[in-house]
Amino acid sequence: MVQVEGLNKWFGDLHIQNDVNLTIRRNEVVVIIGASGSGKSTLLRCICGLESFSSGNIFIDGVSINDIKKNRKMRSEIGVVFQQFNLFPNMTVMDNLILGPCKVKRMAKNDAIAKAMHLLQQVGIPEKAHSYIGTLSGGQQQRVAIARALAMEPKLMLFDEPTSALDAEMIQEVLCVMKSLAMSGMTMVVVTHELKFAKEVADTVVYFDAGKVVEFGRPDIIFNSPKEHRTKLFLSKII
Ligand code: ADP
Ligand code: MG
Repeated sequence: MVQVEGLNKWFGDLHIQNDVNLTIRRNEVVVIIGASGSGKSTLLRCICGLESFSSGNIFIDGVSINDIKKNRKMRSEIGVVFQQFNLFPNMTVMDNLILGPCKVKRMAKNDAIAKAMHLLQQVGIPEKAHSYIGTLSGGQQQRVAIARALAMEPKLMLFDEPTSALDAEMIQEVLCVMKSLAMSGMTMVVVTHELKFAKEVADTVVYFDAGKVVEFGRPDIIFNSPKEHRTKLFLSKII
């Protein structure tokens, strides 16, 4: 579903994507791990079309991201959830959830509301439909952010450290929603430091360092018997 081919990106002299190649199959859950500053967020931003790149290409279902960028509908099929929830704080949960479907997908308001209620059930907070974003906990806000992305009926979901801004007790509720999304067959790319989640949910773990895919494979192999010295060193620091 996603084909990253020879991706390169520079910020001035910084080579922050250094010939990245990555293939993601439909229904696959890929977890990307790596040190801060290694280029993980930039890679996700390139995959969803938020960031341009210097050379190489990215295809989503065979269509170049540079073409997808020009097409609002196709672009809306790639859902993104950031560390900072990026919701509209002075609007209700419901208004946040129906904005995209009504504006971009031209969905009838009643249909958008029905869909939003269904999604709030899925993320476990139907009772918050008419609450203002500012009154919710961080974990609840992140679950709204996930529901908002799902409201656009994405075929691919990207998560960039979705639990890093959350207090410990709220991390699990968000991971739990992500896990059930993975079980439902969603194709997902997740940048996270939650290794337990990676072990349980990922089909593939990618270790990313200095703008490069150093090593990738099944979680049990990457975590228990990595081949690359750099992977071993990184894991020894974080486990
Ligand atoms: P990660 O998500 O792995 O922490 P990032 O993709 O955010 O890494 O950043 C990779 C590198 O690119 C870092 O060195 C960062 O400082 C640099 N960088 C990111 N965005 C910009 C930008 N807009 N301008 C210049 N440098 C940037
Ligand atoms: Mg990042």
